[in-house]
Amino acid sequence: MVSRVIPVDEFDLVIFGGTGDLARRKILPGLYRRFRSGQMPEGARIIGAARADQDSAAYRKMIQDAIEEFVPEKSRDSESIAEFIKLLEYIPIDATGEGGWKELAAMVRKEVVKAFYFSVGPSLFGDLAERLHKYGIADDQSRLVVEKPFGRDLDSAKALNAVLAQHFDESQIYRIDHYLGKETVQNLMAVRFGNILFEPLWNSQYVDHIQITAAETVAVGSRGAYYDKSGAMRDMVQNHLMQLLCLIAMEPPNEFEPDAVRDEKLKVIRALDPVAQSDIVRGQYSGNADGPSYVEEAENPDSKTECFVAMKVNISNWRWKGTPIYLRTGKRLRARESEIAVVFKDPPHSIFGEQDGRRGNVLVIRLQPNEGMNLRVTIKEPGPGGMRLMEVPLDMSFAEALGPDAEDVPDAYERLIMDVIRGNQTLFMRGDEVEAAWAWTDPIIKGWTERGDKPKLYDPGSSGPEDALMLLHKDGRRWREIKV
Ligand code: NAD
Repeated sequence: MVSRVIPVDEFDLVIFGGTGDLARRKILPGLYRRFRSGQMPEGARIIGAARADQDSAAYRKMIQDAIEEFVPEKSRDSESIAEFIKLLEYIPIDATGEGGWKELAAMVRKEVVKAFYFSVGPSLFGDLAERLHKYGIADDQSRLVVEKPFGRDLDSAKALNAVLAQHFDESQIYRIDHYLGKETVQNLMAVRFGNILFEPLWNSQYVDHIQITAAETVAVGSRGAYYDKSGAMRDMVQNHLMQLLCLIAMEPPNEFEPDAVRDEKLKVIRALDPVAQSDIVRGQYSGNADGPSYVEEAENPDSKTECFVAMKVNISNWRWKGTPIYLRTGKRLRARESEIAVVFKDPPHSIFGEQDGRRGNVLVIRLQPNEGMNLRVTIKEPGPGGMRLMEVPLDMSFAEALGPDAEDVPDAYERLIMDVIRGNQTLFMRGDEVEAAWAWTDPIIKGWTERGDKPKLYDPGSSGPEDALMLLHKDGRRWREIKV
């Protein structure tokens, strides 16, 4: 495969929260992988900034350990790690105080691309933005990267947008949703808009329904008390699942440019119907021999927070009216599996009579595990004995399609960080998109908070509460199985 990677300019990337879990597990290992594959420009520099009082040598050692822990052995080697950590500097800084800022100002170069990654809680965004401005560190070309959660409701999201807007233009702000950095998610756009095959069928005339699933096997564990303040709707649906929904449902943008794509996504969110409470099922896992229940981990016996949610969503526009989209996400389920399944209608007339074996076309876009796509088609069962139909998958696993290059498919974080340096906002959420998503989510959460609804219990290792199955059964449909 010939690499056609767009070159990246020389940069200074400052990671606030550079000693935190996210920086050590995702951001720096991702940057290392880009470095190792030769896609980091000469003169790139990464500055960790956090509260810990340590020097650059100690920080380099910390990140070396993190790379050894979080990058698989086959994707690292000690020589390149030693070269990579030479790009790192560290500066102790207090986001809410004045210590460290003058030193940072002296360190950051004027003439290169400057990006500031806010890998800290959102309560610090305002302090950081203000000091970057006050100490003359950022200029009008600098970029800010901010992590989720971007608010917990419409009001708090608006407040965060306003705080950032005091010192930075929207064109400088990169709100990360790592789902958008996944290879398959971008491939969804390539498949939809790069082929003539799918788009003519991509509407309510031919698509029966769409299922979007993000199932996890992990429990909330030690993050329980923290998670209990948000829940699956805020943690997964408002951001990740909504983004997938937008990409699957949006109109073709006139060009693959940031605002063209984001304008179309925004229109989808604005066309979403309010969801009836009867079209939502919330759940909490019970305990078993393998682990405690959700409420025990949340340290809140009366918790009414959901760690599972399934819902039916309708889009009121010409393309999708009458084609429901079912969303489902939860913790401690049967398997770790994220996918989008576009379930097409049956042909209008079967010339084969009521033959068994024909279940219609389904296009599955798999996000994890094993990113890829699969199109289920009907064929004749081989051999004599009349016309019996069967289904076969036309399967495209990226690992198989790309062969030895598959290992080099960048992980979501590394791709997104490089897009920041390139100044490409296409795969980042715009402020108005985030606000529109909260405006749709808020009344749903408010409804069940006001009524004091308690989520339904489900068995750990299952597919969620029974009622979630009923959500589709009552429409004469069924969920795709979450496979182990
Ligand atoms: P963490 O608690 O592990 O690290 C926090 C970092 O912020 C540390 O480096 C700490 O020194 C720094 N910090 C805290 N207060 C500071 C201050 N006043 N001044 C300067 N630095 C300060 O947190 P994390 O898990 O790395 O998460 C960081 C952010 O990313 C959070 O907003 C979190 O919600 C978000 N996030 C994390 C993950 C993840 O997998 N960890 C995933 C998605 C989003």
